Amino acid sequence: MIVELISVGTEILLGNIVNTNAAYLSEKCAGLGLSCYYQDVVGDNGERLYETIKTALSRADILLLSGGLGPTQDDLTKEVAADVLGRKLYLHEESKASIQQFFEKRGLEITDNNWKQAMMPEGCIVVENPNGTAPGVIMEQDGKHVILMPGPPNEMIPMFENSIMPYLSKLQSCVIFSQTVKVCGIGESKAETMVQDLIDEQTNPTIATYAKTGEVHLRVTARAEDEKAARKLVKPIVKELKGRFGNHVYTTDDEVTLERAVVDLLLANKLTVSTVESCTGGLVAARLINVPGVSEVFKSGYITYSNKAKRRLLGIKKSTLVKHGAVSEEIARDMAKGAALVSKSDVTVSVTGIAGPDGGSEEKPVGLVYIGCSVCGRVTVKKCQFSGNRAKIRENTVSSALSLMRECILQYYSEVTFGSKDK
Ligand code: ATP
Ligand code: MG
Repeated sequence: MIVELISVGTEILLGNIVNTNAAYLSEKCAGLGLSCYYQDVVGDNGERLYETIKTALSRADILLLSGGLGPTQDDLTKEVAADVLGRKLYLHEESKASIQQFFEKRGLEITDNNWKQAMMPEGCIVVENPNGTAPGVIMEQDGKHVILMPGPPNEMIPMFENSIMPYLSKLQSCVIFSQTVKVCGIGESKAETMVQDLIDEQTNPTIATYAKTGEVHLRVTARAEDEKAARKLVKPIVKELKGRFGNHVYTTDDEVTLERAVVDLLLANKLTVSTVESCTGGLVAARLINVPGVSEVFKSGYITYSNKAKRRLLGIKKSTLVKHGAVSEEIARDMAKGAALVSKSDVTVSVTGIAGPDGGSEEKPVGLVYIGCSVCGRVTVKKCQFSGNRAKIRENTVSSALSLMRECILQYYSEVTFGSKDK
């Protein structure tokens, strides 16, 4: 079925508020398997709202409106929607009683215009609003469904989840199920090329790639008569993707973040970890510490921004700094080694780079970052060249540092397991 979203409010048109309701509803509708082809924003103007609803009715099965259900003169949504469908308004006694109760409970005075919110279109379904005074409205006509919800997100979201979503699910003859394969250490275009054949021949399930900072998410979505059948369609595709991306897949669980995957790997192998950062100023440590349970493995986070700090805290030689410069493979290596020594951690990750906007040169441009990782004494250094502003470069660096940690730990264990002598 086709859904169209209509956000009502001059404030949205003026940019005074961000249309978060539309973002929220789009995502929920996609999850329900509804196709959304158009989203409209219209101000608090009766004529234009009338036209918008009429047009939307001509091209969608379900209209989801938010905003303009309040008590004031400029709140027109219910009146206009009823008008488009040729329905009159009547006083809905239950809504009147609950509005009265709402005000009494809070010791607020009711003004006459509040009763406007108890006026309902004939033949509609009244949807309760436990968080405010404006009830929601569902009108069914000629196979179409027009749904009105209040604008404030703290009222709209609970109403949508508790009442509208169950209503919409019943309208759908099929369910949608998706699973995300999360990949790190591989760029988006390469990832897409690796699955282009699958994307080309996709119908059900479909595969969509989403580029995230330092990672790529491949979302596999199937449509079927029930969830079991949909899961069955998704399963072989997820298996195929896991086969193609191998160790680059860090999870197929929507809830698991890259930092969670790294921490899980550390926990599983009983490895302690410390970070030593220059241009990221503690962001790598902060991402790891986002994960509950990290205290089992995390030891120290050093921010060695100045050369002096690098020398004093990590024992880095002045001669190395002079010879190679602070942003160099050698320093990233010595930082990771130095941190391992002073923190007595099994794994350390080091970052040194030029986040800009100043400080770049032809030889060492802005965005040049070296990331080091030491796993039980074996050190790997990766050279990266990022683009974008200071924030973007730092954000990319953090994701790459997490990816590198994961890669180095996996590699260390695969080689130890397969008996490599070069430990
Ligand atoms: P009220 O009873 O508060 O007047 P209402 O249903 O009439 O509610 P609006 O007057 O259109 O809704 O909007 C009220 C408030 O709700 C806005 O000031 C804004 O804070 C929030 N809001 C409205 N629409 C949106 C939207 N699309 N996205 C995010 N917030 C919104
Ligand atoms: Mg209002």
